Amino acid sequence: MSWRQRVLVLGGTTEARELARRLATEGQVEVTSSLAGRVRDPVLPEGEVRVGGFGGEAGLARWLVERSIHRVIDATHPFAATITSHAARAATQVHVPLLVLRRPAWVAGPGDRWHEVGSLQQAARILPGLGRRPLLTTGRQGVDAFADLDELAFVVRTVDPPDVPLPRRHTLLLDRGPYTLAGELDLMVRHAIDVLVTKNSGGHATAAKLEAARRRGIPVVMVSRPPLPGGVPVVHGVEDALAWLGDSHQ
Ligand code: NAP
Repeated sequence: MSWRQRVLVLGGTTEARELARRLATEGQVEVTSSLAGRVRDPVLPEGEVRVGGFGGEAGLARWLVERSIHRVIDATHPFAATITSHAARAATQVHVPLLVLRRPAWVAGPGDRWHEVGSLQQAARILPGLGRRPLLTTGRQGVDAFADLDELAFVVRTVDPPDVPLPRRHTLLLDRGPYTLAGELDLMVRHAIDVLVTKNSGGHATAAKLEAARRRGIPVVMVSRPPLPGGVPVVHGVEDALAWLGDSHQ
């Protein structure tokens, strides 16, 4: 019987699901995907799945040892900075090789009117100077940064209902991508959106809003990604993550 290495994929993203699917179907490694358990009805990856926090960096380090994990791929969302820093420290501590899989960031193109900011708080600060009817697509966490902007009429789009205070004037849309350009244009016209607020999540599933904003000539408040921990190898696609594992597949 051939020896199979055990791989932990820290997930919660399309890329993590695609990676787990490839690993589960190709059958050369034993893959466990880990989800935080934030989304009520998550799209589950193929293969073994565990849900919930590890109990900090120390808990994750312990889990890696107890489960004899050989490699970790952190394929979490670019804004999930806490788990990414825990993974980097835990993997170093217990000498388990770690790879970060991060989809490329979006880059402004001709015709884009981006205002790049470092945080949701900064986004909230500049927003009143840019429009009156923002489409807010930064996710439900941290949406309370906009709660005091009484003079703006928001459309807030999230997967699950936010459990923090929302701006006084808002319409809540519960929806999950992928989104189409036609759908995004229609949404912006219907709600007379005049400014878009988004995190620089990257990826195709939610990129149509940027093209829609460009076509409508509306400004975009783009929240930049938090920095990655130093010294950890990073790839930007599933194929490269598979190649990183490839050496020890036999
Ligand atoms: P975070 O702030 O980086 O992490 C907070 C805590 O949640 C971590 O300390 C860890 O708890 C737990 N956690 C996070 N990801 C986990 C995972 N994949 N498996 C097990 N535990 C996990 O993360 P977040 O921003 O709340 O995001 C949570 C999850 O949602 C991530 O897996 C991410 O991929 C996904 N997601 C996030 C965003 C976003 O905008 N932040 C968007 C889409 C999807 P312990 O300390 O107890 O281990």
